[in-house]
Amino acid sequence: MSSLEDLPLRPDLVGQKPYGAPQLAVPVQLNVNENTFGIPESVALDIVKELAAEVMSLNRYPDREFVELRSLFAKYLGFNLSSENLWAANGSNEVLTQVFQAFGGPQTLALSFGPTYSMYPNIARLTLTPYRELPREAEFELSPGYVANAISEAKPGLVILCNPNNPTGTPISLEVIRAAYDSFEGILVVDEAYAEFNDGESAISLLPGRPRLLVSRTMSKAFAFAGARVGYLAADGAVVDALRLVRLPYHLSALTQAAARAALGHADRMLENVERIKVQRDRIIERTRDLGLQPYRSSANFVLVAGFNDPEAVFDGLLSAGVIVRNVGIPGTLRITAGTEAETTKLLRELEPLLG
Ligand code: PMP
Repeated sequence: MSSLEDLPLRPDLVGQKPYGAPQLAVPVQLNVNENTFGIPESVALDIVKELAAEVMSLNRYPDREFVELRSLFAKYLGFNLSSENLWAANGSNEVLTQVFQAFGGPQTLALSFGPTYSMYPNIARLTLTPYRELPREAEFELSPGYVANAISEAKPGLVILCNPNNPTGTPISLEVIRAAYDSFEGILVVDEAYAEFNDGESAISLLPGRPRLLVSRTMSKAFAFAGARVGYLAADGAVVDALRLVRLPYHLSALTQAAARAALGHADRMLENVERIKVQRDRIIERTRDLGLQPYRSSANFVLVAGFNDPEAVFDGLLSAGVIVRNVGIPGTLRITAGTEAETTKLLRELEPLLG
């Protein structure tokens, strides 16, 4: 095999590393904000039935418009949305990529407030979109005045706000979103990947009268469906028309559509563990604070904990004990996903002796 350096690679990709957290077979995996409860067996059986019904017709391309799935997403979200307001793709990473393909590009500055989701700069790079990240305020919070000023000065064509924010867990208020929208003429994306864990109101409530507002969601977190790769977006119907211009033909397979339909049909069961996860999240906050660490407030299914003298050593110590968390590169911190009660107990038990 020759090496990557020998290939005439696109110049802006030279020296880049593939994105992704380590995938290790560790008993307690609290590193990528999955829902560790898994899928209830009765729901799994229904998913298998829907998949089986599709298999005999896999010789045909799937419904390119995935109309039935879009109606189910509209029904799940409420807010008087209809299928014309909905779009979906293979994970919200693909949804966001399509948004950048349709509304970004070399002439359009994309802006976000960091630290935030580390795929935003990657997606910007892939779509040849210039990207800037301005710092968040103290404790990683954002206020309406700060955001409005920053946007007015930077003059972006696309702004992306993560609510609650990964990797800090910080929620933002609807006032911040209103202020951001009113401070420029471009596309405002609110990434609500962790919305179901957030007690605050969704930006979906702001959609009426705001055709430049896009709210993206995923089934990877609360729905425990990361392996199926299903993300979706709610917006004005004209935005959906724009996304049709950049999607690859038949991008959402018949099997993906069937699995997502079946899971949505059991939304109540699939979401049952959200409250349990929130209890474990709050337990991680309380206990790490008792241990002398500084957890940030979180409205998601993970906690960013500061105050580690040597996060790498703690990461390695936990890994040796069979627990993987995430070092997101913010000095002195580790990000910990809230899992089941037993997983949290194991994590907290293994953490204490490592703090020395
Ligand atoms: N947005 C945020 C903020 C995320 O944390 C993630 C997953 N880590 C995603 C989007 C993408 O998730 P998926 O592609 O699985 O829907």
